[in-house]
Amino acid sequence: MIKNLAQYTSEEKVIRKIFEIISSLFSPKTIIYMAITNNKITTIKSIPPNIKITEISLEKLNSIEENYYLLETKRSFILKITHSNELLGFIEINEIEYPQYLNRYLNIAIVIARICGLSIANARIYQKLNKTLEELKLSNKDLEQFAHIISHDLKQPLTNLILTLHILKSNILEDDNLKVVNRAEHSAFNLNSMIEKILELATFGRRNENLMKIDCNKVLKQVVENLSYKIEKKKANITFNDLPTIFAIEIELIQLFQNFIDNGIKYNESNFPEIHVSAEKVGTDWLFSIKDNGIGIDAKNFNMIFEPFKRVGNSTKKYGTGIGLSICKRIIERLEGQIWVDSTVNKGSTFYFKMPIKDKNS
Ligand code: ADP
Repeated sequence: MIKNLAQYTSEEKVIRKIFEIISSLFSPKTIIYMAITNNKITTIKSIPPNIKITEISLEKLNSIEENYYLLETKRSFILKITHSNELLGFIEINEIEYPQYLNRYLNIAIVIARICGLSIANARIYQKLNKTLEELKLSNKDLEQFAHIISHDLKQPLTNLILTLHILKSNILEDDNLKVVNRAEHSAFNLNSMIEKILELATFGRRNENLMKIDCNKVLKQVVENLSYKIEKKKANITFNDLPTIFAIEIELIQLFQNFIDNGIKYNESNFPEIHVSAEKVGTDWLFSIKDNGIGIDAKNFNMIFEPFKRVGNSTKKYGTGIGLSICKRIIERLEGQIWVDSTVNKGSTFYFKMPIKDKNS
């Protein structure tokens, strides 16, 4: 019975069990439990119900060296319940049936008090964790709702603005004015895709899809097709060979490689941007790398670029939201992997990610 105590996830259950144990061992007339949190009494429970604990000041109880306090009748005592030097409560055991065995009983009671302390501490941590988890779920839900409302509310006037600019453009004859409107239209389009990215970030991880066997070669082919306009425009050369099949969510893998390759083309001043994707087995992991000959990244920013909305160095001249890599990081972390970058300014960057090769992977 005692052994199972530490498995209880609520303090009330622990106490109910402790009362059962104490009743069967000492047959007392009454048992009272007083829970303490941050040196304040929070609840009192007793058998039979509504019995008051002996009036001894908390300070006095608190200051007792031993784990118990013997009451004057010598048939009753109070157990101090602690864990890791934190006071968690007191149990008063009144009028035990065989006071002649008091000393022996006290030894047992002290052991019970220790296990009780551990079990209550466990139950309290569990409750706290559960509460935090619930709060986290709620705040995630709030965030998602907020992102939906914002994107919906912002997108409507933005669409009107884009439409108005379009109409305005067709009625403008002077070149200078046209430039201004073009610029405004460009900003409006940027704002539109920024709103979409924010929504994407806020709702990431909501997909309940199962991991499927995905051939990364096929994913890369799809990505190259998706980016064909940019690839042709910048005369970029995208190469990859012999990529493995891994367990993942296809749409996330496309998103992942597309972000890397899109960035490799975007942050690249070379006349012939080169991006190469490869993968190899390293120990028990797949190690992927995406190497480009772009503008590179200063070593001091290697970690920062994976945080949302962080853009660094020369890149701020190009359009971007600073969200792509933070989504890549989340995708990899959900696959129990890690992501990092190695780069030299003006020479190029290599983005790496690794993930465990599971039995299911091939
Ligand atoms: P975005 O491209 O929208 O700014 P990302 O999260 O994809 O957002 O990238 C964050 C920042 O990391 C970029 O603004 C840029 O400063 C840097 N970066 C990402 N990829 C590269 C790359 N291949 N070469 C140089 N800098 C890069």
